[in-house]
Amino acid sequence: MQVVFWGTRGSIPVSGPKYVEFGGNTPCLQIKLASTTDTMIIDSGSGIRELGLQLVRTADLHSRSIHLFLTHAHWDHIQGFPFFVPAYVPTFKLDIYCTKDAKAILENQMRTPFFPVGLDAMFAKRGFHQLTSDAPVTIGEAQVRNIPLPHPQESTAFRIDEGGRSVVFATDTEHAPDHLNESLAKLAEGADILIYDAQYTSEEYRAGKQGWGHSTYMEAIKLARAAGVGRLVLYSHDPGHDDEMLKAIESAAQRELPATIAARDGMVLDV
Ligand SMILES: [Zn+2]
Repeated sequence: MQVVFWGTRGSIPVSGPKYVEFGGNTPCLQIKLASTTDTMIIDSGSGIRELGLQLVRTADLHSRSIHLFLTHAHWDHIQGFPFFVPAYVPTFKLDIYCTKDAKAILENQMRTPFFPVGLDAMFAKRGFHQLTSDAPVTIGEAQVRNIPLPHPQESTAFRIDEGGRSVVFATDTEHAPDHLNESLAKLAEGADILIYDAQYTSEEYRAGKQGWGHSTYMEAIKLARAAGVGRLVLYSHDPGHDDEMLKAIESAAQRELPATIAARDGMVLDV
């Protein structure tokens, strides 16, 4: 299994010379499974646009069956979907999984006066699947489990297990001040890679960001230690954090937990 980071920024895309190393696209992960040439994607932030172009260019090399999992409906997790070219191509098949009504969410985003064409302009074969936390999804030989995350309007964490390897994706989520999220620690137990919402520094969080639904790199480290994960990936970078600040955050986190890396757009991790 491989994880490709097409977008790693929280809240809103950013660009410019201060964001060259970490990139500025909003959340989108591609999970390259070993057991199938189907494409698995989590979230359709602005990063999904480039991924879509690549999937069209390489269409003969994979099944053209795409499984898109959505964590939740906040703008930064769906705003790239109208620009996802495979959704317009009739030879692609697109299955969309969400704990909420994904069809209504994506239709609303594209309805007049917000976008020039509607969801009905997308000619890929589509299927919508409502997720529940007690019913894992199987893709190839991979199993995808989910649990709810504390976040305004609720987000969803995913764990992908395939061939004895595992990845957990947990964004957006806010930690409790006095205890760990036990259900998330259980989901992440022994995972090879934990990708976790580290949008704020502890100082920023204390200075008025409680209730915005995000967490910190110190909480990420606590959770990674409790769950005994192999590698921690800091994710959902704040748009106010430029390359210099993210490098400082990454270094500070590595002093606490050496097996930590801050996600970058374009990064590929072997699992
Ligand atoms: Zn959110």
